[in-house]
Amino acid sequence: MIPDSDIERILVVTAHPDDADFGAAGTIASWADAGIEVHLCLLTNGDQGGFDDTPRDQMGPLRQREQQAASNILGVKSVTFLNHPDGHLMPSIQLRGEVVAVIRKVKPQRMVIQSPERNWNRIFSAHPDHLAAGEIAIQAIYPDARNEFAFPELLKAGLEPWTVSEVWVMAKEPRNHFVDITDTFARKVEALKAHTSQTSHMEDLEGRLRSWAEMTAEEAGLPKGRLAEGYFVATTN
Ligand SMILES: [Zn+2]
Repeated sequence: MIPDSDIERILVVTAHPDDADFGAAGTIASWADAGIEVHLCLLTNGDQGGFDDTPRDQMGPLRQREQQAASNILGVKSVTFLNHPDGHLMPSIQLRGEVVAVIRKVKPQRMVIQSPERNWNRIFSAHPDHLAAGEIAIQAIYPDARNEFAFPELLKAGLEPWTVSEVWVMAKEPRNHFVDITDTFARKVEALKAHTSQTSHMEDLEGRLRSWAEMTAEEAGLPKGRLAEGYFVATTN
């Protein structure tokens, strides 16, 4: 695994606003604190989400604002919205090309993605859009972002091939790497509170997040009282 000190830029790709914050907010905040540029790319605006009578045409823009606020709390450098309809994501050549363009612009050494494989133990993590976003992201990482002959129009537009060296997959078991987020946990809670349309109705949001992070820390073998997020990390260069 590449040491954080050798990482300059990280790109996180997810289907919906709040996905990255539930899965990785503590880790993202610790990277930003260490001076690493973290960029976020969302494939949809999450316009099928929410639990109230907010008109559907307002939900997308509302969730974009919530994501920007959450990302500001964590120190994320940029948020890109690709504006595809929520609930309709499918791995497609067009979407692959759009993510390749973002990779070639950001030039990340490391990426964080969703799992393209369904986790039967945690079915809520396996929303079809999450599986599609994970598949689109890994297809963009390999082979296309590094291949000058893939999407030649991108090269013509000045977007040079780029090889992403490492991928961190959220919600994939078995997990093989853990990050201690005890020091950034409070900001993870604040970031998720910023997704008001999704989390304001949740009873004891902080308690739920804490108990997940405690279980992950226990799996990681960390001392009692520590909090963690977990990943499956793979080399992609
Ligand atoms: Zn989601």
